[in-house]
Amino acid sequence: MNRAYLSIGSNIGDRYQYLQEAVRSLSAVPSITVIKLSKVYETDPVGYTDQAAFLNIAVELGTSLSPHDLLAVCQNIEQELGRKRIIRWGPRTVDLDILLYNDENIESDDLVIPHPRMEERAFVVIPLASISSDAALLQKAAEFDPEKEGIRLWTAFDGDDVFVHTEN
Ligand code: ADP
Ligand code: MG
Repeated sequence: MNRAYLSIGSNIGDRYQYLQEAVRSLSAVPSITVIKLSKVYETDPVGYTDQAAFLNIAVELGTSLSPHDLLAVCQNIEQELGRKRIIRWGPRTVDLDILLYNDENIESDDLVIPHPRMEERAFVVIPLASISSDAALLQKAAEFDPEKEGIRLWTAFDGDDVFVHTEN
């Protein structure tokens, strides 16, 4: 079983529902097991800042899928949930990025793992570190000033309670 970490973000419409749907779609794939979910964080947009705040979570998966097959699953879910690509780094219903896949380094045209720029992004590192025991990641997360980065806990709910045990 391979171990992968994803980052999921949404900043259009019912952001929380998009996260839920994305996690539900992942766990519906027979070759994917959702192992752990971070709490939900809210993050002010970076880059293209004239857009709504994001909700972000990190997810730990067990999977028998290859990295490229996992990417295809992520892109299918984005499509299903109606992601429209209008502005680069602009608003999106849901964005699924593969952060880590075991400890592999992959550099192909359509897939780079570890995800490039992930370490600069508080909205990736902070949720990821919260479900990881990797010392370097925890150190990175601790170096961010959450207020300066515009990131805060969005809900007191534990992601596990909200996502995994949802009846539907
Ligand atoms: P971003 O996630 O950087 O905001 P997109 O979601 O539009 O932008 O992704 C653009 C492209 O990034 C995708 O077509 C995909 O092939 C590529 N990509 C490269 N590495 C990864 C990765 N680790 N996870 C997800 N997509 C990736
Ligand atoms: Mg993406």
